[in-house]
Amino acid sequence: MRIAFFSTKKYDQDSFSSLVKDYGFQIDFLEAKLDHQSAMLAQGHDVVCAFVNDQIDSKTLEILSKEGVKLIALRCAGYNQVDLEKAKELGIRIVRVPAYSPEAVAEHTFALILTLSRKTHKAYNRVRESNFSLEGLTGFNIFQKTVGVIGTGAIGRAFCKIALGFGCKVLAFDVMENAEMKKIGVQYCSLDKLFAHSQIISLHCPLTPDTHHIINKKAMEKMKDGTMLINTSRGALIDTKAVISALKKGKVGFLGIDVYEQEEDLFFQNLSEQILKDDQISRLMTFPNVLITGHQAFLTKEALHQIAFTTLENIAAFASDSELVNEVKA
Ligand code: NAD
Repeated sequence: MRIAFFSTKKYDQDSFSSLVKDYGFQIDFLEAKLDHQSAMLAQGHDVVCAFVNDQIDSKTLEILSKEGVKLIALRCAGYNQVDLEKAKELGIRIVRVPAYSPEAVAEHTFALILTLSRKTHKAYNRVRESNFSLEGLTGFNIFQKTVGVIGTGAIGRAFCKIALGFGCKVLAFDVMENAEMKKIGVQYCSLDKLFAHSQIISLHCPLTPDTHHIINKKAMEKMKDGTMLINTSRGALIDTKAVISALKKGKVGFLGIDVYEQEEDLFFQNLSEQILKDDQISRLMTFPNVLITGHQAFLTKEALHQIAFTTLENIAAFASDSELVNEVKA
């Protein structure tokens, strides 16, 4: 198997290189992001390995198909970046890593919550300048707050357990309720009730046509004033324009995001020497109560190892014509 590995970062190369010798595959690590312009780089490869912001639309898939690619191994959980209907039509199979370390993402979600609630990002900068004043650093307890969780899949469940450990009341909304969560004290309710009663809302559902802009103007109007909104799932779950307006009005009191609606042209790159052309993220960065991380919730040693292992196992199953347990179908 020859694998064209797109959007390579050093941490990917390290985690895959240490495992691939056990499989006998050849990986060609490419820095290019996968889209219709770079797809021809997959020439001569059986498999493409891609990540969250690669654009696997119909144009890209047609080129990959012409170049002989038969399998796209996503090294991530989400697959909203793939035109699944087109892949099916072309006979290209898609596999993913459904759960590599839900705790990695759930813990980062809590890192955003605690940073915003205790203003440790501001304290860190102050103390480095010998400013030990506590003015403006008053936070709030997480204990006994009502936390609303949208999506109780692998990550949502890990998040609920942490929230319960903090002594929160946990409300949840999911299209499929989970018995284990109910047993440990999570209360499922309607989305409207979750919006109305939660002080902290965390998004853990996938991006689908149903969930696109699930947090829009109307949804935010139903929330308590000053609600903390956290998104470590996919950027387009939140209508960015509407959230900026809600932040200005104080409806949203804190926003913590690891994902952003237009992140494709920004994240995973060092743009510190460039002028940002995205006015919405620039506006978000001016709010003192907004914390943005650049899609790093997955980035732990444990998760990277598991991503590499599951991706290589998915490719090995394809190579031996075995069942693809992690296949994504249209
Ligand atoms: P999962 O498939 O285990 O769980 C998703 C849950 O969302 C399921 O319980 C499903 O029933 C529910 N759901 C589907 N449609 C819904 C809807 N309309 N309303 C409410 N709930 C709905 O997925 P997961 O592993 O928990 O991952 C969740 C998301 O987190 C992924 O889709 C991905 O976008 C994102 N993610 C982000 C990072 C990161 O680094 N920031 C890393 C991994 C995953």
